[in-house]
Amino acid sequence: MKITEAKTYLMNIPVKRINDSQYTVTGINLLVLKITTDTGIEGFGYNWHTSEGLGVVKKMFDEYISSRLIGMDPLMRLDINRSLMSTHNFGWDPRLGYNGLGVYISSLVDIALWDILCKVEGVPLYKILGAGSDSVEAYNTDGGWLSWPKEDLVSNAIKLKQSGYKSIKLKVGSQNPIDDYYRVKAVREAIGKDMRLMIDANTKWDLETAVYMSRKLQEFDIYWLEEPLNPDDIYAHAELKKRTNIPIALGESLTSLYSFRDYIVNHAVDIVQVDATKVGGITEWLKVANLSEAFGLNVYPHTNIQQPLHAQLVASVPNGKMVEHVDWLADVWKYPIAPENGYFHLGTIKGAGSEVKEKAIEKYVVDQ
Ligand SMILES: [Mg+2]
Repeated sequence: MKITEAKTYLMNIPVKRINDSQYTVTGINLLVLKITTDTGIEGFGYNWHTSEGLGVVKKMFDEYISSRLIGMDPLMRLDINRSLMSTHNFGWDPRLGYNGLGVYISSLVDIALWDILCKVEGVPLYKILGAGSDSVEAYNTDGGWLSWPKEDLVSNAIKLKQSGYKSIKLKVGSQNPIDDYYRVKAVREAIGKDMRLMIDANTKWDLETAVYMSRKLQEFDIYWLEEPLNPDDIYAHAELKKRTNIPIALGESLTSLYSFRDYIVNHAVDIVQVDATKVGGITEWLKVANLSEAFGLNVYPHTNIQQPLHAQLVASVPNGKMVEHVDWLADVWKYPIAPENGYFHLGTIKGAGSEVKEKAIEKYVVDQ
């Protein structure tokens, strides 16, 4: 089996305008890789961001990487990865690209190669990986945006509870941190005690603010505090963990197995949120999940818009737990899934769940 073509499409999918503590989001930028083989089987990989910049990844892939894949066997993932890593272009220089552009491209390629393997075998990823279940619990983030007034947070939280969710996540990191206290308080009082409530600061706080706020918020039974601090600062996370009882979650900003190892061995993380599109693909995601298992930590991946892939991964590792849900790409994925009574069911997914509809590419493409 040989790769005959590797083509990228940069798409922009508009979404309703929302804010967290760092970004104003008006659209999802989605970079899709389609690898074609001499058997006619096609594999899809993707990467995404809420901000601009993926055009640079596309340009690098198109100019330096695409041609290197032609003629290679798509079932020899390690061979392909070694080949990409051995190039001398700047993408694989750890100082310039390996943890940025390079890892975005590794992720694209690796996900597409797993998609091809699944299609060759004729079974979805979760069965290739030998899953423990064909359903996974969902939690909802799409009701907790920082740009929403407190009243909307509360009414949405009640609506989500009624639709079957057992867990929701709110954004924190308001200009005045005390506003966060009253927003979390209002939601906790509205949903009662029998629902998990998580909060996400999107790296906004410094250590002093994080310690202060986690002490203030502890009374609301917070299931985890996500990305409180600069993700490069392992020391500060370890320090925060010593000074709060709220579990610390992170991983969407970590781009290698070694970053996760360093967080774990320094006792700086409780909840592992590894994302296959940021860490080098499905292969590296599985390594991080297995490493976490050995240290007694569970995985709740950063997913946001990409449930068809990550729900399968969570179902396939013993320490995989919930999957985040925001439904912005429901008309983009070829095999979309939506929670029913708080659970994703995987039975309709094919391949790695990474394929996008041809019509969605036509509709949303901005550069091909
Ligand atoms: Mg987050």
